[in-house]
Amino acid sequence: MKEQLNNIKVQAEKELASIPSILELENVRLKYLGKKGELTSVLRGMGALSSEERPVIGQLANEVREFIEGKLEDTKKELTKKERTLRLQNEIIDVTIPGKGKGLGKKHPLSIVLDEIKEVFIGMGYEIAEGPEIEKEYYNFEALNMPFGHPARDTQDTFYITENILLRTQTSPVQIRVMENKKPPIKIICPGRVYRSDAVDATHSPIFHQVEGLVIDKGVTMGDLIGTLQVFAKSLFGENTKIRLRPHHFPFTEPSAEVDVSCWTCGGKGCRMCKNEGWVEILGAGMVHPKVLEVCGIDTEVYSGFAFGLGVERTAMGRFNIDDLRLLYENDLRFLKQF
Ligand SMILES: [Zn+2]
Repeated sequence: MKEQLNNIKVQAEKELASIPSILELENVRLKYLGKKGELTSVLRGMGALSSEERPVIGQLANEVREFIEGKLEDTKKELTKKERTLRLQNEIIDVTIPGKGKGLGKKHPLSIVLDEIKEVFIGMGYEIAEGPEIEKEYYNFEALNMPFGHPARDTQDTFYITENILLRTQTSPVQIRVMENKKPPIKIICPGRVYRSDAVDATHSPIFHQVEGLVIDKGVTMGDLIGTLQVFAKSLFGENTKIRLRPHHFPFTEPSAEVDVSCWTCGGKGCRMCKNEGWVEILGAGMVHPKVLEVCGIDTEVYSGFAFGLGVERTAMGRFNIDDLRLLYENDLRFLKQF
C-alpha cells in the first residue's frame, strides 16, 4: 500500500509537470483527489490493515494528499502567469488604426410626435394609461354606446378574432377600462396601436396609432375641453396656432366636434398643405356621453367629462410635410435619416 501511495505521488507530479492549460487542472485533481480518485480508492482499502499499520499508512496518505494539493496550486499559479503573458502578446493594440464609428440610431418620426404629445399632456397633469390591443367586443364598441348593429361600427372595418374578441379599432376601450377601475377625478391619455382592415394607400394603413384623452371630474365643461385643446395646439404647432370646432357626431360623446388647427405652414392664408383652407383637421372631441359614464358606474349627477382623440400618423405627416403614409412604415433609411 505504501508503494501504491508513492506511485500515486510520482505519477501525479509527472502529469502536472506536462499539463498544457488551467482547464486541465480540474481533471487532474479529480483523477487523484476526487471521490472516485486514485488516492481515495487506496484509502478505502485501509480497513483491512492492522492497527499498527493504519496510522503509518494514514500519515503517508495525508502527506501524499498535501503534496498533490501543493503541486496543483503551484501549477495553477504558473499556468495563470504563462497564459496572461501569452494573452498580452496577442492583444497588442495599434492605437494608430482609425476608429470605427458606431452609428447611433435616432427616433422614428412617429415616436418624435408621440413623445411631444405625451410631454404636453404630462405637463398638464395627465397620466398615461395602457390597455390590450386584442380587445373584447364589449370594450371596443358596446360600452362606448355602439351596440350591435350600430351604423358607426360599419365605418370601422374590424379584424375579428372570434365573435366577441377583436383587434381594437380605437384606443377608447382603455378609457372604459380605466373608468371601471378608478374613481374620478380621472385625467389620462391613452396612446397606442389600433387596427382596421383598410387597404394600404397614401393615407390608410391597417395599423396606425392614436392618442386619446379623458378627463372626468366634478363640473367639467366644454370650456375646459376647448382650453385644453388650445394649450395642446399651441405647444405642438406654435404659439400663434388657433383652433376651430365644427359640430360632428360620435356615439360616445355629446355634444361632439371635429377640431381643426390653423395651418402651421401658411398661418391660415391657404397653401398646398391645408388645401387652401387655412385649417387642418387634427382631432375629434366632445363631452363624454352620459350613457358611457353610467355603464362604468359613474354618477352623472355629480361628474361630467370630456374626451378627445387624434391620429399620430396624420399629425406626424402634417408636422413633417410627409405626403405618403406608407413612408412611415417602409423603414427606408434615406427617409428616416431626415428627422
Ligand atoms: Zn396652409
